[in-house]
Amino acid sequence: MQELEFIDWIQGRSNFDATKVPVGPGDDCAIVRLGDNDLLVTTDQLLDGVHINLAEHGPRAAGRKVIARSLSDIASMAAVPLAAVATATLPRGFGESDAQELYRGMREIADEYHCPLVGGDVASWDGPLCLTSTIFGRRAGVTGGVEPALRSGAQVGDAICVTGVLGGAWKSTRHLEFKPRIAEAIELAICCRLRAMIDISDSLARDLQHICTASGVGAEINAADLPLNPDLADDEPAAIKAALHDGEDYELLFTVPQAWARKLCDRQPLATHITRIGTIIDATGLTLINPDGSRSELEPIGWEHGT
Ligand SMILES: [Mg+2]
Repeated sequence: MQELEFIDWIQGRSNFDATKVPVGPGDDCAIVRLGDNDLLVTTDQLLDGVHINLAEHGPRAAGRKVIARSLSDIASMAAVPLAAVATATLPRGFGESDAQELYRGMREIADEYHCPLVGGDVASWDGPLCLTSTIFGRRAGVTGGVEPALRSGAQVGDAICVTGVLGGAWKSTRHLEFKPRIAEAIELAICCRLRAMIDISDSLARDLQHICTASGVGAEINAADLPLNPDLADDEPAAIKAALHDGEDYELLFTVPQAWARKLCDRQPLATHITRIGTIIDATGLTLINPDGSRSELEPIGWEHGT
């Protein structure tokens, strides 16, 4: 079974009271109403051999990454992390010092983002290392006035923008050391008219498809405008392919009205660079405008678990 088909199957069976659960499965976080505020919640797994190579990267990096992935989901909603809980299923015989390193990795990133690690569970088995993290968040703003950004708000004519550079994260340590864009996302939500947002975990093409499906729109991407990873600069076609399909960039992908995109790109208000890469269109699916001006279908290929 494919991951997305299974999520669709689950969504088809969800019957929440929208006054209590405004956002259920299918966005980066679920939203549960809590008095006058919203409680956001997201959960992620990290499996040795799937999301990390424990023998190569070590337990500290594994602990950091599982928490950072959930913080990135909180960022994609333009929300503030409140607290984290985590679980670790350790391979039998996992050493005490390695277990402590795992915890240190979780704590360092949680502390950096003012997200206390408040509980969890530890077990052992004969399989590989499995970690999970669950993070709770709240609306940003002193009085919680910043609306969470959803995948479903993109409108025809919006500009499509990304933060940072894309591609090749797995060929470096970027997929381990990325900084969840919490502050940048909140800044965007406060300073401009943010319509839709997601963090790039699966791949640019695949995560853009998530926005388009949720919003009922299509998109065209200009390959020549992609912020390519400079480490891949000696082979432009390969760098473009990596930017579109590699995933694990954990950058913000968002849509805003055209006028706001111009202002953002002129003023560059964030600590990281913003690049406009395309336009939301009235269509189905994704189109790539190649560097020579020709157009081709952009397949939403990227990281998919369960394949
Ligand atoms: Mg996400």
